[in-house]
Amino acid sequence: MNRDWLRKDFYRLLDVDEDADQAVIKKSYRRLAQKLHPDANPSDDTAAERFKEVSEAYSVLSDPDRRKEYDQVRAMGAGGFGGGGFDRGSGNFGGGGQVRFEDIVGGFRGGGLGDLFGFGGARRGPRRGADVSAALDLTFEQAVKGATTAVAVDSDVRCGRCGGNGAEPGTQIDVCGGCGGTGTVASNQGFFSFTNPCRQCGGSGRMIDSPCAGCRGAGHERKARTIKVKIPPGVKDGNTIRLRGRGSPGLQGGPPGDLLVKLRVAAHPRFTRRGDDLVLKLPVSFTEAALGAKVEVPTLNGPVNLKIPAGTPSGKTFRVRRKGVQRRRGGPGDLLVTVSVTVPPKLPRDARKMLEEFRDRYETDDPRENF
Ligand SMILES: [Zn+2]
Ligand SMILES: [Zn+2]
Repeated sequence: MNRDWLRKDFYRLLDVDEDADQAVIKKSYRRLAQKLHPDANPSDDTAAERFKEVSEAYSVLSDPDRRKEYDQVRAMGAGGFGGGGFDRGSGNFGGGGQVRFEDIVGGFRGGGLGDLFGFGGARRGPRRGADVSAALDLTFEQAVKGATTAVAVDSDVRCGRCGGNGAEPGTQIDVCGGCGGTGTVASNQGFFSFTNPCRQCGGSGRMIDSPCAGCRGAGHERKARTIKVKIPPGVKDGNTIRLRGRGSPGLQGGPPGDLLVKLRVAAHPRFTRRGDDLVLKLPVSFTEAALGAKVEVPTLNGPVNLKIPAGTPSGKTFRVRRKGVQRRRGGPGDLLVTVSVTVPPKLPRDARKMLEEFRDRYETDDPRENF
């Protein structure tokens, strides 16, 4: 329970009536949480703040005992504070003990949306480690064919000196005398009782005699690591690969977070991609285009032969089957070859004469007649 309940309107935050039953509250919360979840709104601080408020509101209203307490506080706030109502700041006692944002996100990611009751009560105890982000540069070929490579990550790892418990090796870890190891202390304020994190141990429930010299008691240290990553074929620039459990270590026995590797794919001097197809612009001479030819076409797996039929116009595209990007499922895409007819920048005198002759005898149609 919490003093700043006085200025918070959990019913309004959850968009439900004061007499809403649990099913209605849960449904409304689920809708809002999905809409406002940080995963769905990256770098949106307003959504993050609202998600936090909605989660706090739900953690109270979904618990019948806490909801009853809240209703009592609310009745007192409306009647006893000059009718100032909620959200006007008049009842702000600045009390602590709010549900921490990290706890909620951790609960979400650990249990999924179905585990709605997972974070109503427990505020301490095992917590999932943070997700860690890293960027990885790939060549065009690596992205198309897949690769096993390494990504450099600078993140928290479990302290090697203390093994993560924060105590200098060989020294004692005691149960906190302030809270008896529970991490929270209750205090009575007239009619109400308040639960707050224990100040002596900071909510951990333990007292460390000598903090670890390696991590100053934090249990983790910053370290540069190199992590092997298997890139599946067909990834695209901007894709993110999630490596489960390779993020920051969990707290108090919680599971580790994930490593999110964002891929940056370099351009290729010849090829571009259109979905799972590779696209190539291929120069051909004007005699190859006019007379037909068999030409060698590069692919990412060595050259193949392509037959250019006589009378091929510049800009025509040929499809070479299965020489594109390997799909996750099914075979590879195709290679699309668009020919571009080249013209010699300079002609020898006799060649020019031959072409003039050709023009005068055969080039009778106007090429712009039907365009
Ligand atoms: Zn340590
Ligand atoms: Zn304590």
